Amino acid sequence: MSKNLTSRAEDYSKWYNELVVKADLAENSAVRGCMVIKPYGYAIWEKMQAELDRMFKETGHQNAYFPLLIPKSLFEAEEKNAEGFAKECAIVTHYRLQNDPDNPGKLRVDPDAKLEEELIVRPTSEAIIWNTYKGWIQSYRDLPLLINQWANVVRWEMRTRLFLRTAEFLWQEGHTAHETKAEAIQEAELMNNVYATFAENFMAIPVIKGVKSESERFAGAVETYCIEALMQDGKALQAGTSHFLGQNFAKAFDVKFTSKEGKQDYVWATSWGVSTRLMGALIMTHSDDKGLVLPPNLAPNQVVIVPIYKTDEQLEEISKIANLMMGDLRAKHISVKYDNRTTLRPGAKFAQHELQGVPLRIAIGPKDLENGTVEVARRDTLTKEVIALDNVTSTVENLMTEIQTALYTKALNFRDSHVTLVDTFDEFKNVLETKGGFISAHWDGTIETEAKIKEITKATIRCIPTDEVPENGICVYSGSSSKGRVLFAKAY
Ligand code: AMP
Repeated sequence: MSKNLTSRAEDYSKWYNELVVKADLAENSAVRGCMVIKPYGYAIWEKMQAELDRMFKETGHQNAYFPLLIPKSLFEAEEKNAEGFAKECAIVTHYRLQNDPDNPGKLRVDPDAKLEEELIVRPTSEAIIWNTYKGWIQSYRDLPLLINQWANVVRWEMRTRLFLRTAEFLWQEGHTAHETKAEAIQEAELMNNVYATFAENFMAIPVIKGVKSESERFAGAVETYCIEALMQDGKALQAGTSHFLGQNFAKAFDVKFTSKEGKQDYVWATSWGVSTRLMGALIMTHSDDKGLVLPPNLAPNQVVIVPIYKTDEQLEEISKIANLMMGDLRAKHISVKYDNRTTLRPGAKFAQHELQGVPLRIAIGPKDLENGTVEVARRDTLTKEVIALDNVTSTVENLMTEIQTALYTKALNFRDSHVTLVDTFDEFKNVLETKGGFISAHWDGTIETEAKIKEITKATIRCIPTDEVPENGICVYSGSSSKGRVLFAKAY
């Protein structure tokens, strides 16, 4: 394994980029802004997918798949959505290459193979899906329609970072249709709650639930619900969004249903998504200067066993113990790997597993053979203890829960100590510069003030928290009256 990581204190952004590459999670590709997700990174993403998928199905959703390419005429049907995404679209204009007569050995676009209608590589799939729903929805009996798809999307982002903001990313997008406005709002809120539960219970990432201000809202939405997380450098990260789309898409695609009373009405819609950005959230919430720290729920290997030996006889004896131990651990649904590679010394293996965030390391050496013990090392606290062989399974089982909880508590304490109430703009700027984190401040509710604050400080309104109690006050920037506090932060 290569040299140490740059520390977070030295250069946070460099630390992040190095960690992603050195922990073997992902790397940049030949296409600017597009990443290759490597097997270890993909294994973590698969764990997220599996749990989310379970939660979606538990809340009544089914998976389906819609095409990657959207005819331009469909894409532009919902004007606000089209306008919002127009600036970052990839467009397919031709369908064939040919030999270039002027450049032997090279290919060029065949000018005769121009598409009659250009195709948009989906930045989000509302258009193609709502055009399909038109054929699926006739009566109230067809509702609610609760569908999710796992897919890739392309947004031509200018400033990209591995996982956090890529030009192509993997995500899931839920698209639902409902009889009533109230039901659609309930669905959008439900899925935002599903995201919050997933982030907190499964990823050990505390999040704040809220709604976006008008200027941060999804293009084409009436309301955008979101979960916002706080990274260790004091910057916020939008970790998931759920949109109440009103009847905007139903009107754009003429999707009507006949109600129980025999009346025709447009259906009500939601859409919701989380992406591979969650990998970035995971890294930036828990990891340290030694590398990735994984909550047990997300670890491809929860336990790694490393043999320490001088002779072949010792290795043989250790391997016997390791095999028995693995059987017991697997019977308790704990994933475990025996790292008996002969190409690496134990120290190098330790460093690699630390870099890759394996929650528990069990080392078995000659002394342990004599004493009937093993050494158990926690990745999160970097603490070690020697325990009796008989206690391994129960200790590991307990530690899995303990580590998962400890990581959440640590992140929660950090987050809670980085939410600062301010009442003046000087304080606002000062806290932002010295401490970072979320700033809870009064805002007059106007787009102008929000834009001005962003221009001066780079902080944006992350959300209007769901649990914020209304409180009359004075806007931190304009001095006009305000009905409540909102959360500002610099964000990824
Ligand atoms: P949206 O459709 O804009 O509401 O985004 C859905 C989800 O994808 C949200 O959780 C976003 O944070 C995330 N997301 C948006 N843009 C990107 C990107 N360029 N790379 C990775 N994730 C993204």
